[in-house]
Amino acid sequence: MTKAKIIMIDGEKYIHCPVCNRLVQLFDVCECNWENTGETNIDGGPNKLTLKEAQVAYAKGQKIY
Ligand SMILES: [Zn+2]
Repeated sequence: MTKAKIIMIDGEKYIHCPVCNRLVQLFDVCECNWENTGETNIDGGPNKLTLKEAQVAYAKGQKIY
């Protein structure tokens, strides 16, 4: 398990989405539909896909749900 690196902006916590690398607020759903859940966000959490599946789907241009 690797923890996401948290970036503070104006008192809010952000991380780089592990799927698409966009900067996204912690505990927010990314534009790529990956739901970020803080330190454990790379494990899948509430996402239906695992992170690895999501990364593969994103790389192929498929949607992540
Ligand atoms: Zn994303």
